[in-house]
Amino acid sequence: MNESLTVLTLPTYQDVIAAALRLESHAHRTPVLRSRTADERLGASVFFKCESLQRMGAFKFRGAFNALSKFSAAQAKAGVITFSSGNHAQAIALSARLLGIPATILMPLDAPQAKADATRGYGGEVILFDRFKQDREALTREIAQQRGLTLIPPYDHPDVIAGQGTAAKELFDEVGALDYLLVPLGGGGLLSGSAMSARALSPLCKVYGVEPQAGNDGQQSFRSGAIVHIETPVTIADGAQTQHLGQYTFGVIRRDVQDVLTASDAQLLEAMRFFAERMKLVVEPTGCLGFAGACHAGLPLAGKRVGVIISGGNVDLCRFGELLVK
Ligand SMILES: *Cc1c(COP(=O)(O)O)cnc(C)c1O
Repeated sequence: MNESLTVLTLPTYQDVIAAALRLESHAHRTPVLRSRTADERLGASVFFKCESLQRMGAFKFRGAFNALSKFSAAQAKAGVITFSSGNHAQAIALSARLLGIPATILMPLDAPQAKADATRGYGGEVILFDRFKQDREALTREIAQQRGLTLIPPYDHPDVIAGQGTAAKELFDEVGALDYLLVPLGGGGLLSGSAMSARALSPLCKVYGVEPQAGNDGQQSFRSGAIVHIETPVTIADGAQTQHLGQYTFGVIRRDVQDVLTASDAQLLEAMRFFAERMKLVVEPTGCLGFAGACHAGLPLAGKRVGVIISGGNVDLCRFGELLVK
């Protein structure tokens, strides 16, 4: 892989501002919630940016809508295609419907039922594939070429990254400067976008990505300086089962992020229970990564102003119950 030789034009904070304008009156400005219990537990002032309350239940609406808004008339007529473990699929399907663009979505056979159903419900055509046997990106590219569709990947795209950055922009706009910002990490769209907003709006804020312990490719990549590929990790954080960072996301992350931390499934469950019990929030396991990292990764948060992005709330209620019962 000659990834280091490819010259990429990374998105900038100006792109985040432009995305925020496109999203105005389409995306929700999600609430920033506080919790006395969380503050006491960390000895800090914690600000939760609740993207679990975003349209379709996750921040991914932001990146998808921004990317589709930039389609030419010809692209919009032909349609969009993507591959996703769920939330990006719903985000593309909903955004496409709002913009009148046909959407085709490749989803893994074992994607959570609620996510596949919701994607079809938004009018997307779903094509199922076996993620342990088939290369989803190659398959998507093949179908895209055959049908003349534009591929919008889940994270490694400048317009997707810029859109995802609008969540942290809203957080800083609302609460001012922060000392720390903890962000769930899969392929890095949310983290890279958040880091760009942090650099612009709160330059001293230390931004950390938090990924599942079972798949710490982001941490390995960050610390080694080259994108590390891993097998699909086995974790309850189904929104972060990515095998590698992207070239754009890694470019921004290595420039603007402090470090990458990990959280175990047990720590995610503990955070999920906390959100349900104390804050009355339904948060999917992946959405708990930031807070789990704040609680367990050993950062010196005492006395600090800490932002935590709650990235999504899409979890089958039966599964939610099963996970919490143990
Ligand atoms: C996709 C997703 C993530 C990871 O986002 P990336 O941009 O791939 O890093 C985190 N949480 C939820 C809920 C997601 O849907």
